[in-house]
Amino acid sequence: MPVHIVHHPLVHDALATLRDESTSPQTFRHMAMRISLLLASEATRDVPSAPVRVQTPLGRSDGRRVRDGVVVVPVLRAGLGMLDAVLELIPTARVGHIGLQRDEITAVASQYYSKLPPDLRDSFVLMIDPMLATGGSAVAALDLIRRAGGSHVRMICIVAAPEGIALVERHHPDVHIFTPVIDEGLNDHKFIVPGLGDFGDRLYGT
Ligand code: URA
Repeated sequence: MPVHIVHHPLVHDALATLRDESTSPQTFRHMAMRISLLLASEATRDVPSAPVRVQTPLGRSDGRRVRDGVVVVPVLRAGLGMLDAVLELIPTARVGHIGLQRDEITAVASQYYSKLPPDLRDSFVLMIDPMLATGGSAVAALDLIRRAGGSHVRMICIVAAPEGIALVERHHPDVHIFTPVIDEGLNDHKFIVPGLGDFGDRLYGT
């Protein structure tokens, strides 16, 4: 499975702020937006585009425009913190939602919501889920995307654990993962160490 580690210094500057326990929810949201913009621009390097010719004030210019057919799928709730960034880059993207809840004791993900565009066969799908921990929710979400026909799928996360990467690799070897970092591993509560804590709680101040 292709794992793309994003080394851009601006990504790592934002990540350091996200990790810092003294960062306020307001700054956390701001940095989540900034890092997601940077990661999404890496993950969309090969997004389908078509030639266009435009008229500048001084002449004609050949350029390219992103084609329709991009679908972004945030995994609720934490993935919502990355959604506006992707839509800022690709405003024409359609948005599917997958709601997965992690049991606080067992860390097993159960699905409570799923609404995807009907046929993803020819779509360029960006699944956004900031914390790739056990990989359980990522695999469950990717299963749903696959069942809806999605075959060109990229996953963007902000922190990944080796366990999560390995599980996604086992179940969805063709999915490209974009992440700035692979952390040490998981603790007994299946949180990423050193990670940044509970992304959703830090984003929403809960
Ligand atoms: N989800 C989070 O928000 N943080 C983790 O460390 C693991 C899963």
